[in-house]
Amino acid sequence: MRTLRLVTTLAVAGLLAGGVALVAATPASAATAVFSVTNNWGNGYQGQVTVTNDTSAPITSWRVEFDLPSSSTVSQSWNAQQTTSGSHYTFANVSWNGTLAAGASTSFGFLVNGTGTPINCTVNGASCAGGPPPTTPPPTTPPPTTGTPVERHGQLRVCGTTMCDRSGARVQLRGISSMWLNWETAPYAENLSALRWMRDNWNLQVIRAAMGVEPAGAYLSDPNKARAQVETIINNAVTAGVYVIVDWHAHEAQNNQSQAVAFFGDLARRYGHLPNVIWEPYNEPLQVSWTNVIKPYHQAVVSAIRAADPDNIVVLGTPTWSQDVDVAAASPVTGTNLMYTLHFYSCTHGASLRAKGDAAIRAGLALFVTEWGASNADGGLDGRACLPEAQSWIDWMKANGISWTAWKLDVGTDTTNLLSPGAPVTGGWTNYLHGHAPFVVANMR
Ligand code: MG
Repeated sequence: MRTLRLVTTLAVAGLLAGGVALVAATPASAATAVFSVTNNWGNGYQGQVTVTNDTSAPITSWRVEFDLPSSSTVSQSWNAQQTTSGSHYTFANVSWNGTLAAGASTSFGFLVNGTGTPINCTVNGASCAGGPPPTTPPPTTPPPTTGTPVERHGQLRVCGTTMCDRSGARVQLRGISSMWLNWETAPYAENLSALRWMRDNWNLQVIRAAMGVEPAGAYLSDPNKARAQVETIINNAVTAGVYVIVDWHAHEAQNNQSQAVAFFGDLARRYGHLPNVIWEPYNEPLQVSWTNVIKPYHQAVVSAIRAADPDNIVVLGTPTWSQDVDVAAASPVTGTNLMYTLHFYSCTHGASLRAKGDAAIRAGLALFVTEWGASNADGGLDGRACLPEAQSWIDWMKANGISWTAWKLDVGTDTTNLLSPGAPVTGGWTNYLHGHAPFVVANMR
């Protein structure tokens, strides 16, 4: 049998209470095993196991097994096929991550309800062996800062290639996007209690109101309903003291420019005096010309906004589903406090898209990631999560001071659905995190 090595870091010291450890006596040729805890919310945690092929030849499959104390259960897993028998859990590779070249690694993750840690761990039948428990204390939630995000930062502006607050300090906002408001399964984004809960428990600083425009039932066919949803979210954001992005969630907005001009002109007159509001006139243009199609649209909408609101930030969508920020950088829109949209989904987009972002920044653009997911570009229909690449993106955004809102606040089976079935509309979602949510939340804090 080819051997595997499981690399584990027990990052949360509290989870070792009672002396539970994964370390087992292991023949020299067998696997080492531990697992990492990437998020701990007291009555549960997110575990991650990295499987490494420690041999000099490829392997084509792997299987990790462990037991949990009966007080704890795996509520969800990803990037592995999970089977459960009582308190015994088996995780086998899925189709895309079974083959590992010599020395290569892959990871799978799981959510545990309860604080018990795995025991009796094996990899392909051999005992997992692990390193010593970590000596580094776990990252903890930062102490609460006085005041709401808007009380702390006030009116925002673009400063160079980043965003600054009223005192001139660089600020990186982090938060979440709503689902297409016309397709929400429940009015999560419109709930004030939920917004406060996310602010206080996730450290959410900004919410994006993704107002669908083109589909049946969205803005073009039911403008009063869609506008009312957005205004509810704006008013809630003002009450909760968080920032709010008003997103014209369209793919062919240039076909409805007059409606967009009227919409943003109206809202800018009524809400443009508030420091909370950020305008986003075009979610994701398709592969159409920046200079001939998208830029003229932006210029028209920015003019309408600036007629009533001279200063709030406007975030501008870019070609190819808001990826070609380098193209926009070659011919920026005229105006002040303008930023540009970059969207990524980490199973699809990696270093080459970050290179476009770097090029845009070098050319002087300020970027805002108004959507991202640790998933395929379709939002994760296959349920797969790509956390290591997502971590590279998180690190890149932090290094460049790029604010972000993660896709998307709703119940569903996609990787990017943040909530699991039964999540109340009023918040309190500690036991309802789904898909990439634990990763999103851990990085918001
Ligand atoms: Mg203003």
